[in-house]
Amino acid sequence: MRAAVFRGVGEPLKIEQVDDPVPEAREILVRVEACGACHSDLHVMKEHFIPMDEGQILGHEVSGRVAAFGPDCRNPQGLQEGDPVVVSWIASCGTCPECSRGEENLCRFLEMPGLTPGRQGGLAELLAVPEHTVIPLPGSVPLDIASVLSCAYGTCFNALRNRGALRAGESVAVFGCGGLGLAAIQLAATFGAAKIVAVDILDAKLRLAEDLGATHVINAATTDPVDVILDLTDQRGVDLVLEATPEPQLQSSLEVARRGGRVVVVGLHALGTRVPLHMMGFSMYNLTLLACLGYSPSRDLPPLVALVATGRLDPSRIVSRAFPLEKVNEAYAALEGGEVARAIVQVR
Ligand SMILES: [Zn+2]
Ligand SMILES: [Zn+2]
Repeated sequence: MRAAVFRGVGEPLKIEQVDDPVPEAREILVRVEACGACHSDLHVMKEHFIPMDEGQILGHEVSGRVAAFGPDCRNPQGLQEGDPVVVSWIASCGTCPECSRGEENLCRFLEMPGLTPGRQGGLAELLAVPEHTVIPLPGSVPLDIASVLSCAYGTCFNALRNRGALRAGESVAVFGCGGLGLAAIQLAATFGAAKIVAVDILDAKLRLAEDLGATHVINAATTDPVDVILDLTDQRGVDLVLEATPEPQLQSSLEVARRGGRVVVVGLHALGTRVPLHMMGFSMYNLTLLACLGYSPSRDLPPLVALVATGRLDPSRIVSRAFPLEKVNEAYAALEGGEVARAIVQVR
């Protein structure tokens, strides 16, 4: 098969012919349709996380079609060859105590296709993954666009619905309008948030945020977001804050949360990131500070897919550009340059 292969820190990905993966016990082989380009991949390429072996195939936002079943598949979802699917990047074991509690993203034996050494990713024609991480897609969902559901949208679904416990009518502030932040804004609108304040330093992203449901936008390069958000809420603060910036400014998030409010930090941060905090307001106002990395595929992806299938969520609105596999490096350059909210790589 053809694949985009990691050949070292700072090197562009190389399109190479590699051996087809063979699905192991209880794995499904997926013929990849599309794979989203995500900031986490850039972290890997620059070694901000654990070092990655040369020869690794990156890519973890995958959609495609079932190509074959490995031995011993139980196939509880009744999948058949050729069925359209979205693949979770949470390759959990499915049986450890965390998985059994429904917290598959905390799996003790977690592997992440394209993000953990040896577990190959989706910037390739074929991908072998555990069967319970493959979720069927209704025919009404565009197959290439569905790739973005597995990372940004899945994480923000978990951040708003489970971690942040967002209720209809509440107010939300989102710091950072990259792929994660924009997905969060769109989902918050879908969930019935009354006030959605978007904060970024790029006007183009703030315009997109407005299109996706933000009721107020703030350019933090020119305006202090804390003052504006407090003014917008009668000095009360918002119910829920989502911090979706690569370099979190947690202090501002805590200052715009209402008394008893919640702050959820989404995504991964580079190794060594440290954040100083003033503890007074945090303790005085009984704030809740939570992290959210990923989601539980079997719990969170089916309802997310249903939102798309019923037309209540349109993920194509954050996908600004599509690139063929040969131009995979251009997709990451566009992402890094802030030109796109989300770019997808069409593998097929
Ligand atoms: Zn990602
Ligand atoms: Zn597990």
